[in-house]
Amino acid sequence: MQTVKALFSLLAALTLLAVSGCDSNDPPPVDNDPGEPTWDYANKGPDRWMNIDPAWAICGSGERQSPIDISVLPTTDIGDWTFNYSSSRLTVHNDSKSIHLLTDGASSMTLDVDTYSLSEIHFHTTSEHTIDGNYFPGEVHFVHEGPDGKVAYVAVLIQTAEENKALTGILAEFPAEPGDPTDVFGFFYDPSIFLPSGRTFYRYDGSLTTPGCTENVTWIVMQDQLIMSSDQISALRAIMGLNFRPTQPVNGRVISQ
Ligand SMILES: [Zn+2]
Repeated sequence: MQTVKALFSLLAALTLLAVSGCDSNDPPPVDNDPGEPTWDYANKGPDRWMNIDPAWAICGSGERQSPIDISVLPTTDIGDWTFNYSSSRLTVHNDSKSIHLLTDGASSMTLDVDTYSLSEIHFHTTSEHTIDGNYFPGEVHFVHEGPDGKVAYVAVLIQTAEENKALTGILAEFPAEPGDPTDVFGFFYDPSIFLPSGRTFYRYDGSLTTPGCTENVTWIVMQDQLIMSSDQISALRAIMGLNFRPTQPVNGRVISQ
């Protein structure tokens, strides 16, 4: 009996060894470190995004990528477009790549015949779009989601001038370190404070400027700029660093004005 028990113990030990042993057919260990971003603007930056994930190949092979340099301005019918922005509860989120202001869905815009809900506002330094080859110190993106997976981005370039006092309160809430979204009590703002006074704009068909670079975005680039002081822009850049994708080939796309 003792011999049989010993034999079972030996078998059990051998089985355990086989299970825990390392086989060459094992899949490679998965990197589950939540603190390690899958892409960034440095070592995993824009010139490598297309090679990081097969689903992001279009970042390199796409024909209508964003941002672009806006210099060719044929005059065409640009379509109907209106803002329906109103005071919104904003949740602020530093995800290590940008500062995101997540909205409560109270604001929207109408483009052509569709209504697009404003889902978030985020920031880039320097600008992503350029005008006649010229970069601006920063750019604000308003992300809108429409029907049938349509996406519309409004881009506002930031220009350095006097302090924008309307932004003083909200800029003070931007967290310097990445972390969970923060719902700040009483954090109600009209997203229009990030818009310039003028309402003329360029329009073209493009993509997300971050992975996976999906080419389903109608871009509205405002011709007037948002004014901020150099101190305000420096504060933004101190938090986010340089987080812009370089301009991409226009490839014959029409830019409406
Ligand atoms: Zn953006």
